[in-house]
Amino acid sequence: MRIRTFKPEFWHDEKIGALHPFARLLFLATWSAADDEGLVRWSPEHLKSIAFAYDDDISVEDVSGLMDQLQQLGLVFVYRAGVARQLIGYIVRFRRHQRINRPTPGRLTPPPLGDPAVVRMYAERDGWLCHLCGEEIPREPLEGVVDGVPLEHLNLVVDRIVPRSSKGSDYPTNVAVAHAACSLARRGRAVEEFRQPASVATAVARLAYGVSESVSDSLSGSVSDSVSESVSDSRSDSLSEVQQSVTTPPNRFTERDNSSVSDSVSDSRSDSLRERKGREGKGVCVSVPKEASVARGASSDNTYIPSDWLPTDRHRQLATQRGLDADREARRFRAYAKAKGRVIADPDAAFELWLLDTQPRRPLRAVPDPAPSSLPEVGPDTPDEQVQLTREQIDDLLGLEEPPPPPAEVAAGGLDAIREWWAEESGRWHADRHARAVAVLRKRAAARVVAT
Ligand SMILES: [Zn+2]
Repeated sequence: MRIRTFKPEFWHDEKIGALHPFARLLFLATWSAADDEGLVRWSPEHLKSIAFAYDDDISVEDVSGLMDQLQQLGLVFVYRAGVARQLIGYIVRFRRHQRINRPTPGRLTPPPLGDPAVVRMYAERDGWLCHLCGEEIPREPLEGVVDGVPLEHLNLVVDRIVPRSSKGSDYPTNVAVAHAACSLARRGRAVEEFRQPASVATAVARLAYGVSESVSDSLSGSVSDSVSESVSDSRSDSLSEVQQSVTTPPNRFTERDNSSVSDSVSDSRSDSLRERKGREGKGVCVSVPKEASVARGASSDNTYIPSDWLPTDRHRQLATQRGLDADREARRFRAYAKAKGRVIADPDAAFELWLLDTQPRRPLRAVPDPAPSSLPEVGPDTPDEQVQLTREQIDDLLGLEEPPPPPAEVAAGGLDAIREWWAEESGRWHADRHARAVAVLRKRAAARVVAT
């Protein structure tokens, strides 16, 4: 038995509130009975002896029923493991409440990482965010290729915080979920050395910015997809490639739950996560309407666009005008909703905006991205107007960036207002990016002069 702490919010938690008061008491008892990993022998006799030792009127069967409540609400994940195939319970949010200074290593067998139910449990625990890059992980496995990047790169895997090569265990405090490509790109190195693979940055940007955020719900989101045009097909780096120059577009999702990360990952990492949170707070963040997040939590297995939804004739007309393939875009539109776990309230309106906002796909090219040498020479005196950079060169120089969201008063005006605003604003935005990319080139040139 150990000393345990619980936070005041424990009593206000909806799940806790849904429990029978005896089950609540039992839950607290499991914390004392659990080891420092949050693992506890899941036996009614054992737990009765801890929680209800003096209560002759509470039977072992009663305790068993209370245990079922904890399991059904997802507070405790139950699995069978070890030589004796005994039942073990893992208190899923254990470390959220416990600050344990010198944890004793677990003696019970940890949840088997090869079990898909275990992987899913960890994903729920970690809020479906990659502990390496911080971006969302799709709730359902994706397949197919977007802009040359296999979407499987984004799929869910479990990752050991301390890698197995450094004797990292399979215990819950050492496990966090990640994108398949992020986990692979890390290749056994320390979390601090991880850099998001370009393929993940590309796929995330493409899926996340393929359609504007909350336009799908209320036409009040940002029009944002200029990123898409510039992401080239040849960016489909091999999984092993780790590219530092691509910065992650800020994740605009609210409610990121990084407690599991900060629990176990070194301070520097959690600081950087906090910084990002801070940036999101400064207005880049377009919040998801409340109803959407509720529905999202409630039905994480559903498809978010009705399965019988199809592009209308109007959509097809618009797609043709814009040089897009309506069916292909419709597939991507679905993938986007899936990947982001987004409820699309009005698919027709959202898809119209998607089409307006998507740049025509360029033909597949055999040539790689322009090498740095093909960048124009920029000296200290070259006037800005004489430098011509392509979108992908700008992206390479600056990293992918998120276009600005429309001001609230514009968003309130609906689709037409947003369209009009963006027609004006996009020119300014691209010009600003161009100027900043030229500045980067200038700096590089200056650095070369100093070096030689
Ligand atoms: Zn990732």
